[in-house]
Amino acid sequence: MEEGLQHNIEKIRRRIDTACKNSSRKPTDVKLLLATKTVSADRIKAAITAGCRLIAENKIQEVKEKFNDLQEVAHESHFIGHLQTNKVKELLKYNITCLHSLDRLELGEKLQHRLVLENKYLDVLIQVNTSGEVSKFGVPPDQAIMLVQKIACLDRLRIKGLMTIGLFSADAAKVRPCFQLLSQLKDQIAGLNITGVQMQELSMGMSSDLEVAIEEGATIVRVGTAVFGKRQYPDSFYWNESKGR
Ligand SMILES: *Cc1c(COP(=O)(O)O)cnc(C)c1O
Repeated sequence: MEEGLQHNIEKIRRRIDTACKNSSRKPTDVKLLLATKTVSADRIKAAITAGCRLIAENKIQEVKEKFNDLQEVAHESHFIGHLQTNKVKELLKYNITCLHSLDRLELGEKLQHRLVLENKYLDVLIQVNTSGEVSKFGVPPDQAIMLVQKIACLDRLRIKGLMTIGLFSADAAKVRPCFQLLSQLKDQIAGLNITGVQMQELSMGMSSDLEVAIEEGATIVRVGTAVFGKRQYPDSFYWNESKGR
């Protein structure tokens, strides 16, 4: 296997362990999810073989392209990208166990409809736009509780927690409030005891800010660059789709 990959994974595990120690949390309470956009199926397989069993894509097209190759190794797939309503049927073809990016009722309703037809259930996280940047998806924080209450009525969707992409900044002081906001929302929602709603997962933190996220309660950190190296496309290619909302 590519030596760099193994080394990068070990480095990330150490960063997670250290961040957990510093905040008196157990390393087993934080899952490492590999964000695999633009990465070839071969390299993803190598990372899975090296022990990273949880992976996620941003685009259905990439899920589809890599699906057959990845069947050779046991793993779990989540979806972390913006999902257009017309891609719901596609999403359900590929054994994706959790959608991190549910951010609007219309999408929830389409999913519910399709899940009923296929007699399936799906774990979901509600994506919250904690940075206020217009280029990022997610429900505005002040509408998150209402969205959770409405999605909770859709019995095929199992709400497991919240997700956010924080502010892009090397400055922890600027990113931290985004993660704190998500954590506060989680507590607030948990306190409402909404039937069928669990608030066990906080999906937040990426290559550059996973320490801050773990300190603020992340249970899933989503890492791409720090394991696979720099991507060829700017992230705006994945995060700035203005159509199809
Ligand atoms: C790409 C991506 C990540 C990982 O970002 P890195 O900075 O490469 O670690 C995390 N979350 C989402 C939603 C992404 O699209």
